[in-house]
Amino acid sequence: MPTILRCAVLSLVVLTLPLLAQQESKAPASPQQPLVIRAGTLIDGKSDKPLHDQVIIVSGNHIESISAAAGAKVPAGATVIDLSQATVLPGLIDSHTHIFLQGEDPAEGGYVVNILNAPLALRAVRAGIAARRALEQGFTTLRDVETEGAGYGDVGIKEAIEKGYIPGPRLFISTRAISSTGGYMLEGYAPELTMPKGAQIADGPVEARKAAREQLDHGADWIKVYMTHRSWVGKNGELVSQPTFTVEELRAIVDETHGWGKKVACHAYGGIGLRRALDGGCDSIEHGLDLDDAAIAQMLKQGTWYVPTLAAYYHDWGPADTPGGQRDRLRASVHEPSFKKALKAGVKIVFGTDMGGISWSEPIAQEFSRMVEFGMPPMDTIQSATSRAATMLDMDGKIGMVAPGAFADIIAVNGDPLHDIKTLGSVRFVMKDGQVFRQDQK
Ligand SMILES: [Zn+2]
Repeated sequence: MPTILRCAVLSLVVLTLPLLAQQESKAPASPQQPLVIRAGTLIDGKSDKPLHDQVIIVSGNHIESISAAAGAKVPAGATVIDLSQATVLPGLIDSHTHIFLQGEDPAEGGYVVNILNAPLALRAVRAGIAARRALEQGFTTLRDVETEGAGYGDVGIKEAIEKGYIPGPRLFISTRAISSTGGYMLEGYAPELTMPKGAQIADGPVEARKAAREQLDHGADWIKVYMTHRSWVGKNGELVSQPTFTVEELRAIVDETHGWGKKVACHAYGGIGLRRALDGGCDSIEHGLDLDDAAIAQMLKQGTWYVPTLAAYYHDWGPADTPGGQRDRLRASVHEPSFKKALKAGVKIVFGTDMGGISWSEPIAQEFSRMVEFGMPPMDTIQSATSRAATMLDMDGKIGMVAPGAFADIIAVNGDPLHDIKTLGSVRFVMKDGQVFRQDQK
């Protein structure tokens, strides 16, 4: 069965009920009944220790109050959701996704197929399914870092979710992304051909600033910039990454974006491109495979966020006896010490997966396991996907937290994620904006 069809069938099973619920809840203008959630254990996203036997009162789309179950005042007529045997958490945030990518199999043509063969409507439908899959897994917010050749498609998907046409997480979108000539795919074709690119290409500070203006004008919440592109194994066995923009070009983008009150996410592996990314004032470093001590010191000084996307680099390695395969192995082997150094130094690490680069049929929560494996305490990994991500997104206190006044984005899992982080991969309850999207019996 083609993947697209399989995804759709799987999703329908889970979603029949919630979709109906969503339609019903849109209709009445009468005051909404309060909802009460009984939480056996509550990890609120901010506190360092969990609470036990709590009652959360949800009113409309936000959280009204949280109190100990003993002595809690449950409003008359409230609907009670019993999660007394579960661990309740804030809706999770994945700060590095691509809903317009589907983990394209290299054997089936890989990245190229999406751009040269897929009709835009097909890509949009698949993006909608990807968004729904994220929500099913408890990710109530995504920062989606570019559409990979699908133009402003993310603006449409975001609107479809916000208007309730399709279920999905809150989206922070970055539209087309920006890179320089020679700095993005498609590439490797006859030079006589003008090939479409997976990002907007700009050269020089004037074009770079204009690209940022266009994207901001059309609805980008973040600007995504590629500061490195190709990578290979260097003469001395080191990872070399090709830099793209100069500091001058990047500064034009950052200056423009900051003027709009928005932020810049920079894809950068290491070396010259990473140094320019930091000198040019990027707000977040994406991947950061090869962080040296100077980069870490500069990130600390500038308050730069680090979205390492560890899991993605353990996928789809080429054969070990090819240059590409050796490069793939080297990337993973430098990533681990970079992450560990950043963690030890206190760099602000935020959860991001690069889903889309990874197939959406795979569990998003696998990134938590990698982070824990590389020494991050489980509670820290949870905060990297909740309150810390919310701060990066300028949504402090509104998302990533179970707290009075926050949006009612609430999930639950069986078991204790602080004891076994893998439990975050089996979400049984998902509420977004006060609406129940998923409620498994057990
Ligand atoms: Zn990415």
